[in-house]
Amino acid sequence: MFDALSEKLEEAWRKLRGQDRITEGNIDEALRDVRRALLEADVNFQVVKEFIADVRDDALGAEVIKGVTPDQQFIKIVYDQLLKTMGEENVPLAESQVKGRPAVILMAGLQGTGKTTATAKLALYLHKNNKKALLAAADVYRPAAIDQLQTLGAQIQVPVFSEGAAADPVDIARHALDQAIAGRYDVLIVDTAGRLSIDEAMMAELERIKAAIAPDEILLVVDAMTGQEAANLTRAFHERLGITGAILTKLDGDTRGGAALSVRKISGQPIKFVGVGEKVEALQPFYPDRMASRILGMGDVLTLVEKAQEEIDFADAAKMEQQLLSGQFDFEDFIKQMRMVKSMGSLGGLLKLMPGMGKISDDQIRQGEVQLKKAEAMIGSMTKQERRSPDLINVSRKRRIARGSGVSLEDVGKLLNDFNRMRQMMKMMGGGGPFGGGMGGMG
Ligand code: GDP
Repeated sequence: MFDALSEKLEEAWRKLRGQDRITEGNIDEALRDVRRALLEADVNFQVVKEFIADVRDDALGAEVIKGVTPDQQFIKIVYDQLLKTMGEENVPLAESQVKGRPAVILMAGLQGTGKTTATAKLALYLHKNNKKALLAAADVYRPAAIDQLQTLGAQIQVPVFSEGAAADPVDIARHALDQAIAGRYDVLIVDTAGRLSIDEAMMAELERIKAAIAPDEILLVVDAMTGQEAANLTRAFHERLGITGAILTKLDGDTRGGAALSVRKISGQPIKFVGVGEKVEALQPFYPDRMASRILGMGDVLTLVEKAQEEIDFADAAKMEQQLLSGQFDFEDFIKQMRMVKSMGSLGGLLKLMPGMGKISDDQIRQGEVQLKKAEAMIGSMTKQERRSPDLINVSRKRRIARGSGVSLEDVGKLLNDFNRMRQMMKMMGGGGPFGGGMGGMG
């Protein structure tokens, strides 16, 4: 869904890759590319402007961090900023604020955005989560809207409250709520009328419905294909109604990702679901991290992080991080780290999951694995004391280790150099690593 944007961002990183520092010069060029990519993805220009300014500040501030490649740093910074903009976590639907009353959801949005479809989708989603939902057909202007909701309701076996097209939408909403309370429903979802563009009558009606039923949740349905317009739309609805969230529809189409950023940034309210098809099942909770990864084309960072979380003993990791921070990292820790990495799967598989590593060759991976085996053999030939205090290892000890592990003296020298550089780097990074504290152990 975000292919074009991903490509642009990859291009920006390609320019940064191979340079060892983030500077005003190279960041400006990369930022220009990010800006262009976001604009082409139809992110609202004001949102882009602020986004770029934030990324720029963070990136330049990150100049002091050594030992991580600029592209990794840059990816992390843009990713963090995307997450920050879209909200860090999935926000579930609001519960009922009024005791003895079902949760009330008011659906709002322009005509054709997929509001009626989203109403039914939401009901099915709730039904699958063991919530009893009632739908209310309060769109009395579009002739087919009531039929459409009733057909969808029958299809998913969720009842639809209707008083026909002659009734007042405010009365319909009020009566539907009465019925929802009497029938002990968990949730009432009210489908309302949309117009082709924002208009006073529509807004006034929504306000009256809001006043009549005091919804727990006002969800703005936004068509992801509307691009730039999504920003104005969100502002108009939010100023008038105070939306509590949004559903972004038609993300399955050939749409750009822009709306996701704009809606959140402008309203400050979370996108709660995304529509990914015409079928009534085609609704998914919105996960900002997945969206951000997707926008960035970051390989599958999420999979990497999840894998790491499954395998790493966090108490151990935290302890290690403490050591890393203070620079007390020794070969015992080094071995432990390697085992952790190994328990997560092959080195090659892991590297492929890393952002920017997608094109690493099998040859390079094989070489890396050989190096790792060698390192393990050398560490195996060290005494416990040497592992604990690597600084002890003088020339004669090096020679013994080389003999013991069947490698050359140079190999041992190189391992020690690499090890020292890593220790130095981790000390400077404060144990953070490109993916933050929790991954510190992975360096
Ligand atoms: P409303 O006027 O806002 O109530 O819009 P509808 O619910 O009638 O939807 C308008 C059109 O968009 C219909 O043809 C739907 O099938 C289609 N639609 C709604 N949601 C999605 C979606 O997530 N993906 C796709 N591809 N089409 C959708």
